[in-house]
Amino acid sequence: MATLANAFSSSSASTAIIVPGSPALEISYKQLHADVLSFQQKLAAIGVSPGAAVSIALPNSYPFIVAFIAASWQRAIAAPLNPAHKQSEFEFYIDDLSSAIVLVPQGQAEGPAVAAARKYSAAVAECYLDPRTNEVVLDIKETGKLSGKGNRPLETAQPDDTALVLHTSGTTGRPKAVPLSHRNLTRTMSNIKATYALSPADRTMLVMPLFHVHGLLAAFLAPLASGGSVIIPGPFSASKFWNDFVDYKANWYTAVPTIHQILLKTPAAWPNPMPKIRFIRSCSSPLSPKIFHELEKAFQAPVLEAYAMTEAAHQMTSNPLPPAERRPGSVGIGQGVEVKILDQAGNEVEHGKEGEISIRGSNVTKGYLNNTKANQESFTSSGFFRTGDQGKQDEHGYVTITGRIKELINKGGEKISPIELDNVLAQHPAVSEAVSFAIEDEMYGQDVGVALVLKDGQKVTEDEVKAFMKEKVAKFKVPKRVFFTGVMPKTATGKIQRRMVAEAMMKPKA
Ligand code: ATP
Ligand code: MG
Repeated sequence: MATLANAFSSSSASTAIIVPGSPALEISYKQLHADVLSFQQKLAAIGVSPGAAVSIALPNSYPFIVAFIAASWQRAIAAPLNPAHKQSEFEFYIDDLSSAIVLVPQGQAEGPAVAAARKYSAAVAECYLDPRTNEVVLDIKETGKLSGKGNRPLETAQPDDTALVLHTSGTTGRPKAVPLSHRNLTRTMSNIKATYALSPADRTMLVMPLFHVHGLLAAFLAPLASGGSVIIPGPFSASKFWNDFVDYKANWYTAVPTIHQILLKTPAAWPNPMPKIRFIRSCSSPLSPKIFHELEKAFQAPVLEAYAMTEAAHQMTSNPLPPAERRPGSVGIGQGVEVKILDQAGNEVEHGKEGEISIRGSNVTKGYLNNTKANQESFTSSGFFRTGDQGKQDEHGYVTITGRIKELINKGGEKISPIELDNVLAQHPAVSEAVSFAIEDEMYGQDVGVALVLKDGQKVTEDEVKAFMKEKVAKFKVPKRVFFTGVMPKTATGKIQRRMVAEAMMKPKA
C-alpha cells in the first residue's frame, strides 16, 4: 500500500539516521520504527486526529524526522515550517492551514512561533531529544484548540490521505499551499530511488532544509525508502560538511547550486584525498554549465542536475547516472513522470521548440488548497499540470529550462530568457554570480537588467560587461543596466528570486 506507514523497511541492517557529535547518535531502522510509533501514541494522546495540521517548526534534527513520520501515520497533515520565520510569517502559515498544533524546539515556548500559534488558538508543544534516554519528547505547553480532545485512537494512513502540506517558495507571487498525499510522496520516493539506484549501501549528507521538498524528499524520505543512511549535520559550513562527509562515510549529496558554489569557493576545506562520491545531485535552481564542470573536476564525481517543484512532490526530471549521458545545462529526462512541452492552447510543440513544461504522474498534487483560480489555470483537460516554466525537449527526452514564463524578459515583444544570459555572464572571468531580470523601460516596456557579484579582488565596469555581452549574444539581449552587489539576495533555501533581486537593485540607495 502506498503510504508512509510501510515505506521504510524496518529490516534494513544499515543505520537509518546518524547525527554527528561525540558521541554521534546512530539510529537503526528498528529503533526509528519504535520511536515513530511511540511518538504517534503521544500525538493521539494529546488529541491529534485525522486531517489535523501539525506544524513542525523544528530545525533539521532527529525529532523533526520522528515527528514528521508519526504525524503522517496518525493521518494528520505534517506542515514543516522554517524555524527562522518571523512572527508575521508564522501567522500566515498557521492561519492558512488552521494548524491544530505547533511543534517548537526545547526552551522556545515564548518564541515567535508560539506567539503566532496563540493568536490562532493552536496547541503548542516543545519537541526534543532527551539526552539521557534518547527518547523524542513531546512536552505540551498549551492545549489551545486540542483542549478536551485527548485520548484519540491510533489511526492507519490511507494512500489518498494528505500527508504533507508545503507552500511554494513564493517566487512568482504569494506562496500557494500544496497538499501532497501519501501516494504522491511514496511515488516520488520510488522515482528518486530508481533514478539514482539508491540502496542500503548509500549514505547521504542532509544539507538542505527539511521544510522544503528538496531536503524532505530527496535527502530524507527517498534515502530511507531505500534502506540507506541519512546523516544530519548541524548548521552548514564548508569545513564541517567535508569533515562529516569523510567521518561518516557519505557517498552522495543533493543541494541547490548556492551550496555547491560555497563548497567550490572553499578549497582549503576539501579533503585530501577526496572520498569516493557516487554522484552529486543539483536541483531547485539553474546550475550553469560552468559550475557543472568545476564541480565534476573538483569533487571527481558525476554531477546530475534535476528539476523539481513543490506541486510534483519534488522531482520531475533528472540527468541519469553514468554510463547514460548527463548533459550540462539540461535537467535531464522524465523520471517516472510524463513530460510534454505545450503551447498556450495546450497542444504539444515539436522537439526543440519552446513551450510550457507540463507534467503528469501520480506524484503530482491534486490541486492547491483554497485556490480555484490557480487550479483551473494549472491543469489541462488531459490532466497535465502546467509548471509555469518555459523549456524545450529534444528527441531523446532531455529537457532544457529556458526560464519561468512569469520571469521572461519581454522587450517590446521579444522574449528573452534570463537563464541564457546568466550562463553567458558566468563565463566572464571576473564574475562569480550573475542574475538577469526585467527592468521597466519607456521605449520597450521591459529591458534587461543584470546583477553581478564579482570574484574577490576583481574589477570590471558596466561598459566592459556590455562589450563582453555584445560579443556573445544578439544585440537586443545586451543588458541595458548592470548592477554590482556584494551578495545576491536569496530565499531561505538558497533559491534565486529574480523579482527579489530586481527590487533590491532598483531600490534607491540610502
Ligand atoms: P512559486 O510557485 O510560489 O512562484 P517556486 O516555483 O519557486 O515558487 P518551488 O516549488 O520551490 O517554488 O520551486 C519550483 C521551481 O523551481 C520550478 O518551477 C522551477 O522554476 C525552479 N527549478 C527547480 N529546479 C530547477 C532547475 N534544475 N533549474 C532551473 N529551475 C529549477
Ligand atoms: Mg512554482
